[in-house]
Amino acid sequence: KRLSIGILFGGRSSEHEASLASAASVLKHLKQDRFDLVPIGITQTGQWVTQTTPYELQHRDCESQALNQPEQLQHTTIVDMAPHYASVMPHPLSSVTPKIDVIFPLLHGTYGEDGKLQGLLEMLGIPYVGCGVLGGAISMDKEKTKQILQATGLPVVDYKSYRRAELERNPERILDAIEDHFDYPCFVKPANGGSSIGVSKVRSREELRQAAFLAASYDQKILVEKAINCREVECAVLGNEDLLASVVGEVLIRDECDFYDYHAKYIEPSTKVIPAEIPDDLALEVQQQSIKAFRALELSSLARFDFFLEKETKNIYLNEVNTLPSFTEDCMYPKLCEASGLAYPDLLERLIELAVESYEDRQ
Ligand code: ADP
Ligand code: MG
Ligand code: MG
Repeated sequence: KRLSIGILFGGRSSEHEASLASAASVLKHLKQDRFDLVPIGITQTGQWVTQTTPYELQHRDCESQALNQPEQLQHTTIVDMAPHYASVMPHPLSSVTPKIDVIFPLLHGTYGEDGKLQGLLEMLGIPYVGCGVLGGAISMDKEKTKQILQATGLPVVDYKSYRRAELERNPERILDAIEDHFDYPCFVKPANGGSSIGVSKVRSREELRQAAFLAASYDQKILVEKAINCREVECAVLGNEDLLASVVGEVLIRDECDFYDYHAKYIEPSTKVIPAEIPDDLALEVQQQSIKAFRALELSSLARFDFFLEKETKNIYLNEVNTLPSFTEDCMYPKLCEASGLAYPDLLERLIELAVESYEDRQ
């Protein structure tokens, strides 16, 4: 059967632009002879836009009248009222869902990667690519992720979290606390974020102050971390029950870049070395830790695991997990899968199979 695939892109997160690039690649490479593609955009203010006509609200007036008379509602049941609700409160996908078999969300960051969209799709009963509510929500929050990784015995970088409210109430006290615990340089980042947006490497109290407020402008919670002098290696995991860990890849951060920032990711993309030139036993360790983390974080379908390989000690730390990693054909996740034997169009098809499989498992 020809499946109809809803490609969701854009969205309200700071990673809106990256999402457009991912969606463009997927639309180009999903095999048109096998799938019908339905692009669905979400604007930066959260409006859903499709090429089909917007919802038709028939008899809107009389039904909204009924809803304005709560005393009538008391004597009826939700089932009786269902037609009213259905017509006055169309869900965001109602104009296209009859035609959609699987949603492929290409939304990075909040409202796409963090379980919220997944909750909506669960309630609507639509299979979707990617992990579910719990895995997405935990993996989006860098503090919760680290807590679970630590409980699983996986090494993470020394970190502490601070709340925006306490920072705003008493900045000097928070800055003192950070300086008591961390040496410079250290990293400051939003607890929920991505694409390095709001991430800073700081070397003084003044930089720390600015970085803390910047990170807090993106999230209610920020993390401060010890700066690791490191190489950055990444591993792709694919599957629901039987997991496949890809070869390990390395991102070469140019000398003039302070770290793997937005510019080094999207403007002048850093060189990727696949497979990474690291000893076999280290690569195996990265793959094993990725699989362990995938299970511990309750993930499914796909995730990219990003590690720091400390230059002096050769220690590895799992820095973060991306459950909807950036997804153009030149991005790390697809490249790692390709190097492991799965070309981009086949990867897309496999992800759709995994979405259907995971939906059926949950029934
Ligand atoms: P994002 O989800 O935005 O990618 P990351 O935690 O991966 O957030 O941080 C972005 C980049 O910042 C990393 O790829 C790395 O280059 C740098 N970085 C972040 N934390 C540290 C750290 N503790 N030590 C060294 N570099 C770091
Ligand atoms: Mg990230
Ligand atoms: Mg990252």
